[in-house]
Amino acid sequence: MLSGLSNKLRGAIDKLTGSNVDKAAVEELVREIQRALLSGDVDVKLVLEMSEKIKKDAENVPPGLTRKEHVVRTVYDALTEIMGKEPSTVSLEPKRILLVGLYGSGKTSTAAKLARFYQKKGLKPFLVCCDTVRPAAYEQLQQLANRIDVPFYGEKGEKDSEKVLKNAMKIMNADVIIVDSSGRNALEKDLIEEIKKLNKVLKSDEKILVIPSDIGQAAKAQATSFHDALGISDVIVTKLDATAKGGGALTACNLTGAKVKFIGVGETPEDLQAYDPEKFVSRLLGFPDLPTLLEKAKTVVDEKSAKNIIRGDFTMDDFLKQIESMGKMGSMSQMLDMAGLGKLVNRKNVDIGQQEDKIKRWKFAIQSMTTEEKADPSIINAPRMRRIAAGSGLEESDVRDLVANYNKIKKMMKQFSPGKLKRGGMGAIFKQFGMG
Ligand code: GDP
Ligand code: MG
Repeated sequence: MLSGLSNKLRGAIDKLTGSNVDKAAVEELVREIQRALLSGDVDVKLVLEMSEKIKKDAENVPPGLTRKEHVVRTVYDALTEIMGKEPSTVSLEPKRILLVGLYGSGKTSTAAKLARFYQKKGLKPFLVCCDTVRPAAYEQLQQLANRIDVPFYGEKGEKDSEKVLKNAMKIMNADVIIVDSSGRNALEKDLIEEIKKLNKVLKSDEKILVIPSDIGQAAKAQATSFHDALGISDVIVTKLDATAKGGGALTACNLTGAKVKFIGVGETPEDLQAYDPEKFVSRLLGFPDLPTLLEKAKTVVDEKSAKNIIRGDFTMDDFLKQIESMGKMGSMSQMLDMAGLGKLVNRKNVDIGQQEDKIKRWKFAIQSMTTEEKADPSIINAPRMRRIAAGSGLEESDVRDLVANYNKIKKMMKQFSPGKLKRGGMGAIFKQFGMG
């Protein structure tokens, strides 16, 4: 899906190596994004506005993020802004769905995809063919229904779609009723009238507009006119696998305020995905787990504090930063990676999950320390320890444990210059951390 786009962006992002990204590198990234989005038929004005925002935001790197992480995050935020921020919500209540859209937009395929989607969720779907215009519309949906083993109703040769629907409603017994309607080449008066009638008979809960993504920005006009004529509840954008114009269609829908509920990513009934702009943008950027990573990056490693620890010259604040990140990911090993020592770590021996409780207690204790205590924990004597324990609601033994560990690691780190570190040595350090 939009693979050209992700390759290009990925390439540009990969150039942002090192901790200091210069302006030229950001400029290049922005140019790549512009090129990719414009070739994906995204509105020029939107692209330019976004570019300016990225350049501006890239300048101020917040603490705790590397420059590269920050730039990627900025790009990601800007893209989710134009693609829509909210993931779609799909209720699993019984419902009646009417699919509308122009001829060839993917309605019939989407009807089967939706049936399959709800079937997989454990609901009983039912497919009705109310496309009485297109020859072979009946057979097409019937075949798809058979393929996924979903009950189907249609009347071959019948021209009155309202009558077909009424007959279908006499016999249907299902949780999710999905009605396929006819298309035409343009949104004409007779099509509007027909859909209005069907809608009235069905009492539809969802009137979903099916839009093919290969029309790019034209999706905006289509979404608007369908909405004005019929009032639609959601949009499904199809054929995202088959075109580079998907960015245009999605941004256009977002501009009209139409909620994209699902995206179609292939021809089979399996090829439907609930639309999640964040996931979509992450894939676009070639980082499928970007939201999770960025979430982590907020608390994770500050390169400076990691390096201080490696040198054995660190404050309780440095220590806290590492501890906080440890609850979320293996930042001890990440920290070592940054110091160029990653290969020495036997990751299997690090069970981070078990340490969460201890980490939480240590965190509270550090937060109860004064600035001087954090900068130089050697001043933490018995009365101070009592005060910190009381302030953080912990036992004195917890605070003692923390300070002892801090001291051990400090000593350990000073003892091992990076060159001398061996696997055994690191294992010992993890043991000291209570992580062995
Ligand atoms: P309708 O006229 O609106 O009912 O559209 P159809 O469901 O018959 O689809 C028209 C054509 O588009 C068919 O050849 C479908 O196989 C194809 N199609 C529909 N959805 C997708 C999709 O998500 N990806 C791809 N690649 N093709 C699709
Ligand atoms: Mg059809």
